[in-house]
Amino acid sequence: MANLVAIVGRPNVGKSTLFNRLTNTRHAIVSDEAGTTRDRQYGKCEWNGREFSVVDTGGWVVNSDDIFEEEIRKQVLVATEEADLVLFLVDIQNGLTDLDVDVANILRRSKLPVVLVANKADDGKHLYDQYEFYRLGLGDPYCVSAATGSGTGDLLDLVVSKL
Ligand code: GDP
Ligand code: MG
Repeated sequence: MANLVAIVGRPNVGKSTLFNRLTNTRHAIVSDEAGTTRDRQYGKCEWNGREFSVVDTGGWVVNSDDIFEEEIRKQVLVATEEADLVLFLVDIQNGLTDLDVDVANILRRSKLPVVLVANKADDGKHLYDQYEFYRLGLGDPYCVSAATGSGTGDLLDLVVSKL
């Protein structure tokens, strides 16, 4: 699929919330595939006359920390195989975790364009917390709030400029 943007990250960083915001739907197509790729959700996003597809790679993780880290790594690998661009979500309120570092390492090896997105930046309170994410070696974090929509317009400008 051309122009496919994958949303990746560990559970609970807000991938599905961002997916729903970008696609303006809660009824995206769910593809039931075997194994770790099941229930990935695909949707369409249109921005400034450009259309692209979005995949929420963690559709099968329902707000649960009870998931094997190995499965998350597999899910990220699958995403990098099909995507043209990756939105790598981290949680600015929760801060950097070891699993974020693992995911970043996989993404850097993939050589795909990656946009580091610091989600849950709902207000100015957490702005200084973005700097720890530079340690991931993926450049500037983009601060957004998937919940309120703050910053997502600038993020979309960036996404379409890279597709
Ligand atoms: P996923 O597991 O990565 O798909 O994360 P979800 O989209 O299911 O979100 C996990 C939790 O974080 C839910 O309780 C969301 O309401 C919450 N959440 C998502 N985005 C934001 C945000 O921008 N700000 C805040 N405060 N909470 C958010
Ligand atoms: Mg989810």
